[in-house]
Amino acid sequence: MAHTVITRRGFLGWCAALGAALGAGSLLAACSSGNGGGDAAAPTEGAGGEASSLDCTDTTGLSDTDIATRQGLAYIEQTEIPDQLCSNCQHYVDAPPGECGTCALIPGPINPDGWCMSWTEKLP
Ligand code: SF4
Repeated sequence: MAHTVITRRGFLGWCAALGAALGAGSLLAACSSGNGGGDAAAPTEGAGGEASSLDCTDTTGLSDTDIATRQGLAYIEQTEIPDQLCSNCQHYVDAPPGECGTCALIPGPINPDGWCMSWTEKLP
């Protein structure tokens, strides 16, 4: 019997696609809960291993749909993939040093050291 290995990223991608197809924000939230990918996780280290004190977790004022989008795309404050950061993502909108940026896809504050499933390499 053949076995299929499903990675966390693959599972989350499947959840996002299904949620988008169904328009079910709560499904997106449910899929991403418990994966450690919620944006409420406290930042510990940047991609380079250095500590990051920038906190971009304040989702005050965001709607439930906005928060579901953040969770559904598995946004995290500190990337787990060293060469994939919000700061080198095509969708990242930079901010002055020491401030959270924004994202063309995800509402709310975005940590330049963060990451989500929609990361796309910034074109030169
Ligand atoms: Fe960060 Fe890019 Fe995802 Fe926006 S789309 S949260 S900039 S990785």
